[in-house]
Amino acid sequence: MANRDFYDLIIVGGGPAGLSAGIYALRASMRTVLIEKGAPGGQVTLSAEVENYPAVKNKSGYELAQNFLEHAQDYNLEVLPQEAVAIEPGLNAHTVCLDNEESLRSHAVILATGGSPRKLNIPGEDDYYGKGVSYCAVCDGFFFRNKTVVVVGGGDTAAEEALYLAKITKKVYLVHRRNALRASMILQKRLAADPKVEILWNTAAKAIRAEGDEVGVMDLQDTYSGEQRELKTDGAFIFIGFEPNNHIVPAGTRMNADGYVVTDEKCETNIDGIFAVGDLREKYARQIVLSAADGCTAALAAAHYVEIKRAAEA
Ligand code: NAP
Repeated sequence: MANRDFYDLIIVGGGPAGLSAGIYALRASMRTVLIEKGAPGGQVTLSAEVENYPAVKNKSGYELAQNFLEHAQDYNLEVLPQEAVAIEPGLNAHTVCLDNEESLRSHAVILATGGSPRKLNIPGEDDYYGKGVSYCAVCDGFFFRNKTVVVVGGGDTAAEEALYLAKITKKVYLVHRRNALRASMILQKRLAADPKVEILWNTAAKAIRAEGDEVGVMDLQDTYSGEQRELKTDGAFIFIGFEPNNHIVPAGTRMNADGYVVTDEKCETNIDGIFAVGDLREKYARQIVLSAADGCTAALAAAHYVEIKRAAEA
């Protein structure tokens, strides 16, 4: 593996947490590179509307993500469009291995790899992915204009996306396994007021079946009585939370039972010089503003860490 270059800081992941870290790192004059395998922006690019990022009353997730990126690019943040496949911690420097067999070394690493949508793991979910099964209302909602869709989930994402889909479709069934939503009260009130949204309480999605080539029916079960029923639908949108993208978190890093990385108040893991931010990190709430704040905290702490390393080397 070729040793491509040495940096003060390598950031892995280009969502709000990673890009905020980039802004603060460059303001602290650290030689920094951000590695992002897809388009920068992260999960927020999939949100139709963001209306709780302070000082930004209403923006599409895509637009907000672009603002993060442009801000970081104003500081000339180097963005490497590659996948980080492993991280090898070291005493004097850490190594980040890339999918092209190259490796980068740095004093500090900030892990900002976020999370991915959780799957229901029911029959038909994989088979009809892209043929009516979706994890992104903004990406696929357009195909369901004046049709009927099912949204599965009871959190903020399911609520927001159900409301978004209600603007486009004829009818939205919100299927939730319990009798109370986890979503914030403001979203719950909007759902209740939307005539196109019908909540099916205490209902589990058991299977997704097709009519022809595309989704046509969802099999449901009452979680109390066990009674089963069929629901005709043109689409199945699944928003049941997400799982941390912790595949490249180095062995020995402290994680909680759900796979989120545990850090101290500086966002530093139990491995010196390795930080975790945003949705990858164990925290009370997962919000864009908190991801941005994590990026700031970790970059400032990394700058201090790098300064000490440099002084020790001098
Ligand atoms: P979440 O808050 O974890 O909610 C997941 C929902 O899916 C829960 O209602 C859960 O049911 C349900 N669920 C989980 N596994 C299931 C399964 N196997 N079968 C059926 N239902 C299942 O996830 P999220 O809505 O994606 O939100 C993630 C985080 O991002 C949260 O902290 C949220 O506040 C935040 N977020 C914030 C905003 C915003 O503020 N604008 C927008 C989006 C997301 P139970 O309730 O029964 O557990």
